[in-house]
Amino acid sequence: MKYKTIRETVEALKSGETSSVALVKESKETFEADKNSALPLNAFLEIYDDILKSAEAADQKISEARSSGSLEKLFDEQPLLGIPFAVKDNISVRGKKLTCSSKILEGYVAPYSATVINRLEKAGAIPIGRCNQDEFAMGSSTEYSVYGPTRNPIDRAYVSGGSSGGPAAAVAANQALFALGTETGGSVRLPASYCGIYGLKTTYGVLSRWGVVAYGSSLDQVGILGHTPQDIALPLSVMSGVDFYDDTSADLPDAKPSVNAFSDFFKLKIAVPKQFLESKGMNADVAKVFEETRGWFESKGAKIEVVDLPILDAAIASYYVIALSEAASNLSRFDGIRYGNRIDNGKGYDELYVDTRSNGFGPEVKRRIIIGNYVLSEQFSGDTYKKGMSVRARIQREIAKLFEQFDLILCPTCPTPAFKLGQKVDDPLAMYLSDLFTTFVNLARIPSLSVPAGRTSLENGNMPVGIQFAGPMFSEMKILEIAQAWENEHKGCGIPVAEEK
Ligand code: GLN
Repeated sequence: MKYKTIRETVEALKSGETSSVALVKESKETFEADKNSALPLNAFLEIYDDILKSAEAADQKISEARSSGSLEKLFDEQPLLGIPFAVKDNISVRGKKLTCSSKILEGYVAPYSATVINRLEKAGAIPIGRCNQDEFAMGSSTEYSVYGPTRNPIDRAYVSGGSSGGPAAAVAANQALFALGTETGGSVRLPASYCGIYGLKTTYGVLSRWGVVAYGSSLDQVGILGHTPQDIALPLSVMSGVDFYDDTSADLPDAKPSVNAFSDFFKLKIAVPKQFLESKGMNADVAKVFEETRGWFESKGAKIEVVDLPILDAAIASYYVIALSEAASNLSRFDGIRYGNRIDNGKGYDELYVDTRSNGFGPEVKRRIIIGNYVLSEQFSGDTYKKGMSVRARIQREIAKLFEQFDLILCPTCPTPAFKLGQKVDDPLAMYLSDLFTTFVNLARIPSLSVPAGRTSLENGNMPVGIQFAGPMFSEMKILEIAQAWENEHKGCGIPVAEEK
């Protein structure tokens, strides 16, 4: 699929220059060709078998509206008509497999669709397939998947980032126009950064969690991956808002299908946390790209101030305590009785439970269940869980206070760019540190967008580097406007997808 924005594609659909059938066929052909290549990307796990039918129905509607002169009206009602998108393997699409890239859910079929999927389908978009991820969204590289890793489309020796590595790679490799991932601690922004595209984590509640497999419920949000801020705004406007099935859902007051590039830069006050700038783990190339981005904001007239937020040093510890506690609790439903492939050797319930879970979960998920249960145990919860929660409360308070004076927090998405496959897979702590700059956003429940801002040096692989634009709660549209101004001048930093290396 030649890279085009959603807007350009919609225009091409209206004019008849392309058809929805042509778009989905191209996705399927790229998927098939990739599957048989020497180093498959492994972005999609499956392309659904009924996409052609949905695309034909969309084309039929378009051609009827063209003959009756009501094309504009049709696209006002269904702004994503005929547009293919990719879905992470933990978001339910009715009648389709849903496995969270785990053996325990192999063969499970979703009995209903997530609200985000229903809303996209109502707007005419077509879910074309299921994408790879770290098992149960636990990881930062999409190497913890029972289906093997997803490679980075920019250079296949590198990881795509995680846990939404499949959706990010699908978009970056032009196999879908946009994709849905999920975030608990950075899983959309991180792979967006590694693959050189935009990835938005919304304010907690803006996107319904109904039909999305829970990891850490107080942190989880669906996220959107796309080639431009505009390409994120449109699906966001269609999906956002209160959902009867999710009590934590909330409206995005100024949701709009399109964004104009921001221009009032001289009014913009930006905070750069000192704790991130001085982080020991910060890669030199990432620091350089960050300085260039900061320079761009200054050249436009924005005021930038380095702020001291010592509590950020505790964000990652607080995140892993809370996320793993919630995970241990959420994953208890995969017991072979309520959910999960049962292993019953006829020795009673205890054995059934142990055998099912021992066999079904991979090592990283087991590690997290053990840590989560340990943290929640009566003996230790006062020391760890409650402390984690009080750090979180402080982060929320201090970030809210910061936004009384500033419009944006600017920092790199990750301390490092994409790394080579296998480099961190046996070192869980090194993997956890990939989330050093992302988790405070989920803890504070604010929105943040990873913006493709530059590349590492040629010697270091010339890989993409993402910078985060984070704002106060419900500031998604403003963040996207600011990023659109960036995009208009930088065009995604011209990151081309390399031929397979
Ligand atoms: N890498 C983080 C973790 O493993 C974040 C994952 C996520 O956002 N789903 O918990």
